[in-house]
Amino acid sequence: MTNALIFGLTGQDGSYLAKFLLEKGYNVFGTFRRTSHRCFERIEDMEIFDDVIPIKADLSDHGSIQLAIRQSKPDEIYNLAAQSFVGASFQQPILTSDITGLGVLRILEAIKENSPGAKFYQASSSEMFGNYSEIKNENSPFHPRSPYGAAKVFGHNITIHYREAYKIFACSGILFNHESPYRGLEFVTRKITYALARIKFKQQKKLRLGNIHAKRDWGFAGDYVEAMWMILQQKNPDDYVIATGKSHSIEEFLDLASEYAGLGDWHEFVEYDESLDRPTDIEDLVGDSSKARKQLGWSPKLDFKELVKMMVEYDINSVKNEISPLNTEVKGSIKSE
Ligand code: NDP
Repeated sequence: MTNALIFGLTGQDGSYLAKFLLEKGYNVFGTFRRTSHRCFERIEDMEIFDDVIPIKADLSDHGSIQLAIRQSKPDEIYNLAAQSFVGASFQQPILTSDITGLGVLRILEAIKENSPGAKFYQASSSEMFGNYSEIKNENSPFHPRSPYGAAKVFGHNITIHYREAYKIFACSGILFNHESPYRGLEFVTRKITYALARIKFKQQKKLRLGNIHAKRDWGFAGDYVEAMWMILQQKNPDDYVIATGKSHSIEEFLDLASEYAGLGDWHEFVEYDESLDRPTDIEDLVGDSSKARKQLGWSPKLDFKELVKMMVEYDINSVKNEISPLNTEVKGSIKSE
């Protein structure tokens, strides 16, 4: 049996990837952080909690990373752990750099010392690109506009360095935004769908958003974890952009979500909140995933409309049945990642 170790098992992508790998017959180990509350809502909701082997590890702690690798004896390692919210990275730039940037190096060092034959996947991000208008591919220059993006550039470059210097099978997927009903509530897509569900059932009156004109290339997380796995099945390690190739504004997302929720004109309950705007932002991000489509044979299955519908239906169902939403509600910033 093949052993996989997922750093970030408890997150959106970690839960989808764990399910995907279990269905492929893998032994799935996954890391979680020590917290004062349970953090397994997503994998419990997916009904895979009993099938995975959780290991306590924190990306700030080299020792726990080493132990996780020694215990799981992985053939494949997926690093999906990060302080992943761009908005929070402006308030916590040092923590973000430590976890999202240096955390990658800690894992790579632990692989070099303990398991140099394991294949490694790094979750790189479209937020590494800047505000240039062209469609981004693997050769586009990086010009991050947030501490999160800068930390991801470090993680990306150090992954390439370990591949070249130590011949580790280390790859990056440069993933554009991908969403699902398991997206954290502070991310704008889920913030919208959850708020609309609450507004529908009169549990909330207003939804406060920042700039709704920003555009992102949004795909479905379930499709994107398949690309992560495909990247590690190639003969040679390499980096790939994973994207749908189409961008939509937050306003378009809101239009569709409101329609699916049966709420009509959202102008009545959405308020602009200047405090949610970021010091710097990216106006439009679109990815060119032709390399992945050609070499991996990957393509997204769910389109934008289906994604919005799925998220709205999930939240309406949760609120209607008074199922507590995944994660805790955050009255924080909006925007993409
Ligand atoms: P989530 O925020 O849902 O998950 C992040 C995971 O990292 C969680 O399991 C979280 O644990 C864990 N984590 C956070 N801090 C630490 C730490 N100090 N030590 C160990 N684990 C930690 O993100 P996604 O699943 O959406 O994203 C997965 C990866 O892909 C991330 O690296 C993200 O930056 C990247 N990415 C995501 C994109 C997207 O659109 N979703 C786009 C491009 C890249 P806990 O549950 O305890 O918080």
